Amino acid sequence: MTVVPGIRLVDLARELKMTPAELVTALKDLGVETSGPNTVLDPETANDVRSLLGKPAEADKVIEIGADATVKDIAQAMQVAPNEAQKKLLQMGELVAINQKLPHALAERLAAAYGYTLKLKAEPKPAPAPAAPKHKAPAGALQPRPPVVTVMGHVDHGKTTLLDTIRHTNVVAGEHGGITQHIGAYQVEVEHNGEKRKITFLDTPGHRAFTKMRARGASVTDIVVLVVAADDGIMPQTVEAINHTRAAGVPMIVAINKIDKPEANPDRIKQQLTEHNLVVEEYGGDVIAVPISAKTGQGIPDLLEYILLVADVEDLKADPHGHASGTILEASVEPGRGPVAKALVQSGTLRVGDSLVAGLAYGKVRAMTNERGERLQKAPPATPVEIIGFHNPPDAGDTFEVVKNEKEARQIAEKRQEKARAQRMSGPVRRLTLDDLSRQAREGAIKDLNVIVKADVQGSLEAVIGQLNELAENKSDDEVRLNIKHSAVGNISEADIDLAVATGSIVVGFNVRADSEAQRAAERDGVDVRLYNIIYDLVEDMDRAMKGLLTPVFEEVVLGRAVVRQNFRTPRGVMIAGCYVTEGKLQRGAEVRLRRGKDLLFTGRIESLRHLKDDVREIAQGFECGVVIQDWNEPYQVDDVLECFEMRQVNR
Ligand code: GDP
Repeated sequence: MTVVPGIRLVDLARELKMTPAELVTALKDLGVETSGPNTVLDPETANDVRSLLGKPAEADKVIEIGADATVKDIAQAMQVAPNEAQKKLLQMGELVAINQKLPHALAERLAAAYGYTLKLKAEPKPAPAPAAPKHKAPAGALQPRPPVVTVMGHVDHGKTTLLDTIRHTNVVAGEHGGITQHIGAYQVEVEHNGEKRKITFLDTPGHRAFTKMRARGASVTDIVVLVVAADDGIMPQTVEAINHTRAAGVPMIVAINKIDKPEANPDRIKQQLTEHNLVVEEYGGDVIAVPISAKTGQGIPDLLEYILLVADVEDLKADPHGHASGTILEASVEPGRGPVAKALVQSGTLRVGDSLVAGLAYGKVRAMTNERGERLQKAPPATPVEIIGFHNPPDAGDTFEVVKNEKEARQIAEKRQEKARAQRMSGPVRRLTLDDLSRQAREGAIKDLNVIVKADVQGSLEAVIGQLNELAENKSDDEVRLNIKHSAVGNISEADIDLAVATGSIVVGFNVRADSEAQRAAERDGVDVRLYNIIYDLVEDMDRAMKGLLTPVFEEVVLGRAVVRQNFRTPRGVMIAGCYVTEGKLQRGAEVRLRRGKDLLFTGRIESLRHLKDDVREIAQGFECGVVIQDWNEPYQVDDVLECFEMRQVNR
C-alpha cells in the first residue's frame, strides 16, 4: 500500500469553499498539474495554494495536542469526525482504532492530510481549546447521518434471513409499497429515544464483498453485525469475518441467531467468542451480543437499538452541503436503460443533473431512485441510490465525485483511462513485498509487518502462530511489530489476497498452495505470497525481515546480444555503437556488458537506443540500432559484442 501524506484536492477545495473544478482551474493558473479531484497535494503545495488564494496561512492552521493524543483527540481538534480521520489513516495504509494513541510522526501526517501543523502541548491542560481556523466549514456543517451496516457470518447462519426480516418489518414510515428493488443497500427507520432514526444496511452480506471494497480503498461500513447461529457455533467463516472486521477497525455487534430453535445454546456461543478475544458484557468485556431470531423477529428491535447506540458512540457525521461523493456498490448495463450504478452517497447531497466521475466512468445523473422505486431529486449522506446516466459502467468499490460539469467529468475520466492503460502496459501494481518491508525496516521506516497465515492443518497452524508470536514477543518496542491479521487452515484463497490488499499484508502459507483464483489475484494486485514447507524457514524469513536483514535475491537474466558493425562519434564526442542484434533484444535502461574477444571491457546502462532516426525502448533480433552506453567514452571496434541483461528479483 502506498503511503501518501498530503491533502486531497477535493478536501482542500471544500476547505477553501470552492468547487473542485474551480480549484483545478486555479491550480492550473498557478502552474500545478492535477489529475482530478482525487489528486493528492503535498502539504507544502497545499499551503502555497492557501496563501495564494488569499486564505489564512499556515499559522492559523496549527493544532496543539498532548503527547498521548488519540485519533479521536486529533480529529476533534481539527473538527473532523473521528471515523473520517480513521478512514484517512486507512487510506494512508494505517489501521488504527479511534481510541488508539498515535505515534507523533503519524499524528503529524494525519494533521498534514487536513492541512494542519501539529504542535505538542508543553503540559496537558484540562481543556483543549484549538484555535478555530477562520475558514473552516461553519460548525454545524457536519450533521449526524445514519450508520451504514454490513451483516457477516458463516454460511447458513441467517444473514440473508436477517436482512429480509429487517427489510420487511422496518420500512420507512409514511412510505407505501415497501422495498421493491435491489439497489445494493436499503434504509430502514427505527424509533430510538423517542426519535425516528434511519439505518442503512448493505444488502450483500459477507466479508468477501466487505473486503473487496476495502481492497479497492473504499470504506463504506460503519458497523458490522456478526451473525452466529446459536445451534451451530463459531465456524471458519465466522472467524474470517471477525478477522476481516478487526483488520478494518470497524465496531462489531454479535447477533446470536436462531434462538427460537430448541437446540439453541447462546451461552456456548458467548464462551466460544471469548476464545477469539471477544468478551461479551456479561463476562466483563465490552462486546455487545444480542440474542435474536431472524425467522420470528424476536430480539431484532434490540439489535437495531444497539446499532443506533454504537452509531452514537461513533459520532457518525457528514456534511450534507456541497458536492456529493460516495461509493459505487454495484454497476451493470441493463437493456433499455444503459449503465445503471447502485451507489451510496457518503458526503454532500447528490442531485439530479449533477455531473459525476467514478473511477474510469463518468456521466450525469439523469434519474435517481431509491430502494422503493421512488424517484429522488436529491440524496443526502448515507442514502443508497440507483443512478442512471453514466456513459460507461463504473466498478464496484469506485468512489464517485460530483464535478462542475459533464465536460470536466469526461476529461477526468479520460485522463484516468489513459493512466490505467499505461499502468496495464507496465504490468501489475506492486504492493508491499517482504523484501520491501525488510528494506524499510532497515531504514527505520516501518513499524508493522502484517501477515496472513494459512496452513494445512490446525496443528501446524498453531505451531506457526506460536513461533511467530514468540518472535514478536522477543522484539523491543522500537523494532518492527509483527501483526497476524488473519490465520486459518486451508489453501490460500482470493479472500486472503483481498484482505492482504486491504491491510497491507503479505501472505505466508505452510504446506499449502494458492488456488488458481488466488494466484491470479496476487499477480494482479501485486501481493507477496510466500510458501514454505519448513517452519524454521518461514520463521527465519519473518525474523530477518523484521530486523531489516532480508536482502532480496537477484538473478541475472540475459535479454539479448548484439554485435558492433560500426563506430560513430557525435560532434560532442559521444560514442555510438552501430550494432546488429543477433539474439533476443536490447532494451533501453537495461544493463549491458561490452566484450571484445575474451575481454570484458565495461558494464554499464544503455542510455540511448535508436533505430534509424527514432528513439526506441527496445530493439529485437535481426534489426540494426545505435547504442549509447552511459559513461563509456572510448571508440567501439567492429565485432565488439554487447550483452544486454537485467537483474530480476527472485522469490525465495
Ligand atoms: P445465510 O447463508 O447466512 O444468508 O443464511 P440464510 O439466511 O439463508 O439462512 C439459512 C437457513 O437458516 C434458512 O433455511 C433459514 O430459514 C434458516 N434460519 C435463518 N434464521 C433463522 C432463525 O432465526 N431461526 C430458524 N429456526 N431458522 C433460521
